[in-house]
Amino acid sequence: MTLSKTLSTQDFDAYVFSKQPDYHEPTVRQEFAKAVPLRTVVIYCYDPRAANIPEAVAKEFGEVYPGEIVTDAQGNKIASTTTLFEVIVAGGRAIDALRSITTAQHLFGIQNIVIVHHTHCGATSFTAHGIIDAYQHEHDTDISTLYERESVSIRDFATSLEHDVRLVRESKGTPQQVNIYGYVYNIDTHELSLVVEDKKPLAA
Ligand SMILES: [Zn+2]
Repeated sequence: MTLSKTLSTQDFDAYVFSKQPDYHEPTVRQEFAKAVPLRTVVIYCYDPRAANIPEAVAKEFGEVYPGEIVTDAQGNKIASTTTLFEVIVAGGRAIDALRSITTAQHLFGIQNIVIVHHTHCGATSFTAHGIIDAYQHEHDTDISTLYERESVSIRDFATSLEHDVRLVRESKGTPQQVNIYGYVYNIDTHELSLVVEDKKPLAA
């Protein structure tokens, strides 16, 4: 494999927080926490017909989305007023969002994780067996142990959402106090329907 290289890595160090001379990890983290008032992470499908899901979730949860980019006196983009981040993955399956949840918690803090699967999703058109079989024949590659089978496609929405809410809840990288929700989004009517809810009681 060859990778073309047109600039030395040195050229980009000015844009890397950890390369700054006065870099101090805890201080930088505090600044990040102040830069975005994040509350909710929404996980949904990369299907273009599902693109309005964050807007629907923002309305349902009273979140600020997409919000405004905040600039400093020099015009540099330094913050955002949004309270909702998106994780866009095939089928909206939670398996692909676990690391993003951990990172969002570490830098900004989160209160809600909303998993949304949508009507007429491509992930409902095939099976784990079918994709494994196709890879074997078309790419001569065995992907049977690459992903857990329950996360590969969608058989029905109750099963997929219950699985994904549980997967997120059981992940060590999920903060314990978050509420986790599983919704179905109707791409034709723009309607969200709650299917699974795993809420944490409010601390006394
Ligand atoms: Zn989809």
